[in-house]
Amino acid sequence: MGRAVASPVATSLPDPGRRALLRGRLHGPPPLRPPWALDEPRFVDACTGCGDCVTACPENVLHLGGGRLPEFDPGRGECTFCGDCASACAAPAFNSVSALPWTLRARVGEACLTARGIVCSSCRDACGEAAIRFPPTRAVPVPRIDADRCTGCGACVAGCPSAAISLAHAPREVADEA
Ligand code: SF4
Ligand code: SF4
Ligand code: SF4
Repeated sequence: MGRAVASPVATSLPDPGRRALLRGRLHGPPPLRPPWALDEPRFVDACTGCGDCVTACPENVLHLGGGRLPEFDPGRGECTFCGDCASACAAPAFNSVSALPWTLRARVGEACLTARGIVCSSCRDACGEAAIRFPPTRAVPVPRIDADRCTGCGACVAGCPSAAISLAHAPREVADEA
């Protein structure tokens, strides 16, 4: 039996077929994009997949994902909103860094240890914005995200020992008020 020939590693920019595939997936939740990225359909069209934003990120929180399009992975660390990713992009794929970077906000899921009666406040310790509060209660205090203070930086995501925190886009009016 002949040896299977491995597929070549993708090194080229996204081709029209792959872009169409990505557009076809737009009905599902898109991956987290870098701060200041255009909205998903326009970002998919504008990004060339060069990876310059990924290389420019001093926090190493960006990587090239599906279709060689950059994704933000808060599991790698927090975004400091330095703007280097947007500045490094030669394509028209980013908004001005004077605009709101994104509408991401943290959410605490059911895996939170406090839901099982275990005392934990690691997320509060990780948050530099004081956006996570534990209102006093007779039982084990549970975390509450203050959407007005949360920047969606992602520092709490990696700081949670039970992977209970995710980032999701808040309604625009909530983000605009923050
Ligand atoms: S703003 Fe800075 S830290 Fe955040 S993703 Fe862009 S380069 Fe990385
Ligand atoms: S760090 Fe995670 S497990 Fe601990 S309180 Fe925060 S969300 Fe819950
Ligand atoms: S995403 Fe950042 S600002 Fe928001 S709660 Fe988590 S650590 Fe705090």
